[in-house]
Amino acid sequence: MKFLVSLDQGTTSSRSILFNNKGEEIFVAQKEFKQIFPKSGWVEHDPQEILDTQISTLQEVVAHSLKLGGEILGLGITNQRETLVAWQKSTGRPIYNAIVWQDTRTSSYCQKIKNELGDFIKERTGLIVDSYFSGSKAKWILDHVEEASKLAEQNDLAFGTIDSWLIWNLTEGKTHATDISNASRTLLFDIHNLSWSEELLKIFAIPSNSLPEVKNSADDFGLATINQINLPILSAIGDQQSALFGQCCFNPGQAKNTYGTGCFMLMNTGNNPINSENGLLTTIGWKINDSVMYALEGSVFVAGAAIQWLRDGISILTNAAESEKLALQAGDTTDLVVIPAFAGLGAPYWDMFARGAILGITRDTGRAEITKATLESLAFQVRDVLEAMTEDSGIDLATLNVDGGACANNYLMQFQADILQKPIDRPVCKESTALGAAFLAGIQAGLWKQEDLIEIRKSERIFKPEIDKEEIKPRIEKWLKAVERIKNWVD
Ligand code: ADP
Repeated sequence: MKFLVSLDQGTTSSRSILFNNKGEEIFVAQKEFKQIFPKSGWVEHDPQEILDTQISTLQEVVAHSLKLGGEILGLGITNQRETLVAWQKSTGRPIYNAIVWQDTRTSSYCQKIKNELGDFIKERTGLIVDSYFSGSKAKWILDHVEEASKLAEQNDLAFGTIDSWLIWNLTEGKTHATDISNASRTLLFDIHNLSWSEELLKIFAIPSNSLPEVKNSADDFGLATINQINLPILSAIGDQQSALFGQCCFNPGQAKNTYGTGCFMLMNTGNNPINSENGLLTTIGWKINDSVMYALEGSVFVAGAAIQWLRDGISILTNAAESEKLALQAGDTTDLVVIPAFAGLGAPYWDMFARGAILGITRDTGRAEITKATLESLAFQVRDVLEAMTEDSGIDLATLNVDGGACANNYLMQFQADILQKPIDRPVCKESTALGAAFLAGIQAGLWKQEDLIEIRKSERIFKPEIDKEEIKPRIEKWLKAVERIKNWVD
């Protein structure tokens, strides 16, 4: 039996997942870790705790594989993106907590840089200048952590996203590397000539010797020793790109949407980056051998989180799954629109002053109708992102592949198919993120060729549009009208 292990280092937990050589999930170990909120808008993780939880889940998985008598060919890493760690090279000691992607401490600095150099930076990196990305977090550490600049002068400072931090530690300080998809989220990487940009390093005042070597997504990242067994690290890739790969969206025009806390839609745009005119990001999907795949990315801030709000915020659900049953019992929601813009609107609107609303309430509106309209709001938001993608890429999507917790909801998936007028393909393995890193590791190990993987990914269910295009049109118009009403609400 041949196995691959995916290390899925997420925002709230670290997981290790054992896959067999048919790409089937065999065993999962998971550990949550602390979220640290030192001030309003600040979000940190303890790098040591990230490492400890990741390694202990990996040890569990390795022990399980031994019990099964199998051989682990290697490890693949997929990770929460943009989160930044700084450590001392000579000792491996973190000099500050990890600054998490959600952290907004650098927003006013970013706003200033955006006003001055936003277009230039977008042209080089494909990104909008925002505190979300890693570059300004590294600058913050250099400016605020006393020992940082001294260590930098002595060539003893290392920066890295979570993949780099794990690789450094798993290889006992032998490898300071990242993969190209993670590098493309830092605001420091030129996505056209595929290297750290001298100009951008200058803008953010980051010393180049603190940065990791940029490798392919399937590559040789060194050896980890776990339970006295040597395991080669064969891949690293950011979580959303990994899901795109795990969903086998290998060809230009293929796309996936992940329905988690928020939604992340990525579309493969082939070997050339497409510059977005519609508020999307241009990012690197992955690099294998000499071939770089680019993607367009759009994110919705609140998706599954709106269902959590129905459950925990206003207590009209006891659990998320109940939303499907209620939606099926609910009356007509043609004129009822819920917009869960709790934290403003993401792509394609980028309105941080928008706020949530429920419009069109009548005497017969009850919890079932509110629930149904909330589920529908996820589908409308995804439609808006896809619309922007279609416009930017000129590609008419054939099928949308889906994953993430809320894709379990059949009502939502059917409504999504109706609204998009496109088939929705839900795979058997819902762990696309972990699967992507395992696939890449398997390619690097010589176990699979990319084309073999298409046979491995199995559809569990295809949702085809059941409502006529003309019938859907007024629903979309009403949604767009409602969005207009909430724009700039708290400005
Ligand atoms: P994340 O990785 O962002 O934590 P997950 O992919 O685990 O998210 O998905 C969890 C989200 O999906 C939660 O916000 C939850 O409300 C939502 N969710 C889970 N199951 C359902 C369901 N059956 N219907 C609708 N939403 C659901």
